[in-house]
Amino acid sequence: MTGQGQIDLLLKDLAIITMDPQRTFIKKGSIAIDNGVIIDLGADLDYQAKKTISVEQGVALPGLINGHMHGTLSRGICEDLKLMDWLEKICFPLDAQYTPEIIEVAEELNQLEMIMSGTTTFVDIYRHMHAAARVLERSGLRGFLTPQVIDVPKGVGETYEGNVQLYHDWHGKGNGRVNIWMGIHAPYSALPETYIKAKEFAENHGIGIHTHLCETRDEVEQCRREYNKTPVQYLHSLGVLGGKFLAAHCVHLTEADMEILAESGVTAVYNPISNMKLASGVAPVVKMRDRGIRVVLGTDSNLSNNNIDMLKEMQVAGALQKLAHMDASVLKSEEILEMATILPAQALGIDQEVGSIEKGKKADIIILDFDRPHLWPYMCNDRINNLIAHIIYSASGADVHSTIVDGKVLMENREVKTLDRKRIYEQAQEMLERLCRGAGLV
Ligand SMILES: [Zn+2]
Repeated sequence: MTGQGQIDLLLKDLAIITMDPQRTFIKKGSIAIDNGVIIDLGADLDYQAKKTISVEQGVALPGLINGHMHGTLSRGICEDLKLMDWLEKICFPLDAQYTPEIIEVAEELNQLEMIMSGTTTFVDIYRHMHAAARVLERSGLRGFLTPQVIDVPKGVGETYEGNVQLYHDWHGKGNGRVNIWMGIHAPYSALPETYIKAKEFAENHGIGIHTHLCETRDEVEQCRREYNKTPVQYLHSLGVLGGKFLAAHCVHLTEADMEILAESGVTAVYNPISNMKLASGVAPVVKMRDRGIRVVLGTDSNLSNNNIDMLKEMQVAGALQKLAHMDASVLKSEEILEMATILPAQALGIDQEVGSIEKGKKADIIILDFDRPHLWPYMCNDRINNLIAHIIYSASGADVHSTIVDGKVLMENREVKTLDRKRIYEQAQEMLERLCRGAGLV
């Protein structure tokens, strides 16, 4: 096939895992990209391109989507505490110290890590999101920014009014890469009227709501004491479930809760590493999926994980469910890859644009370099194809060679083009010291 003129970008001679509805796999082929859009893909493409990327042992797949993270900075300090001690003595005092200047650096560090580990779209719930939006505009990633609105205790989070302002200032900027949703921290930290107002605003503006839900047993018990309802029943009684609604964690659910989530069309975000590290529990992922609840994958913050590497998260996502069920056949590799690509694209309402490699979709693509001993040997014939198993159980973010969003190359051969790595490290160090001094931790 011969294209006319010169296209912007050709990704050449790669194995391609498309994640299209037929789950087409191309053993060796190319992807033609022009004006940010995939215009062709397949074997034997013949295009003249302004830029070509060819990786000898390269495997292309849709850019990964992180369904839940926080743009925090204080990774790895004050570890090994009980969850409530950690939250009350460390997290909230630190959260209160964040300024837009600190968030700008924290976001740069987080977005740099995501570019370098193959995430192309992320959902971020945290503070001073105007600063995050500025970073997102220049990093080249696709993001859903949701301010962490907290009513109780005061001063450690964002406000509903600030969330509305952020939407008006930023939604749709960066060629549609900057998206603003309503971010309400959790039923135990936000007032009922805040959820109700957020639901109304989201509906009127065609956006969604992101929140934490049923992460720990304690919060479920507290909600039962206060309202005589589980958190799911409580939010349901407020009328806020439904539409685009992304609920992080969903670890402690009753059968009746799952029925409500399924009927309302709520998407649950499974954060296996954070749930293990904070000893929160095991999300009933298989049960939720069997009931028709869409489950997607997230990393949670770099405090509770401690990285935001979706490849590593996919490995633990599978391993934890297998252990919890004492059944190695649950949650197949391809299902886990769906939870990091096409399913979150559906949850965010962008599956017509991204989430798979298909003609007419935006070019959000990553290339893994299989020139690594831990990714060999592999077979990809008609009967046996272990590439996806390698991606889920053997690969890590360090194996990502190139990251492309909207047809723009953000990283090639591990060189990031949009953010300055060394400067970010230096400033992150300085800001962490400032944060800890402010919170009285040093
Ligand atoms: Zn979280």
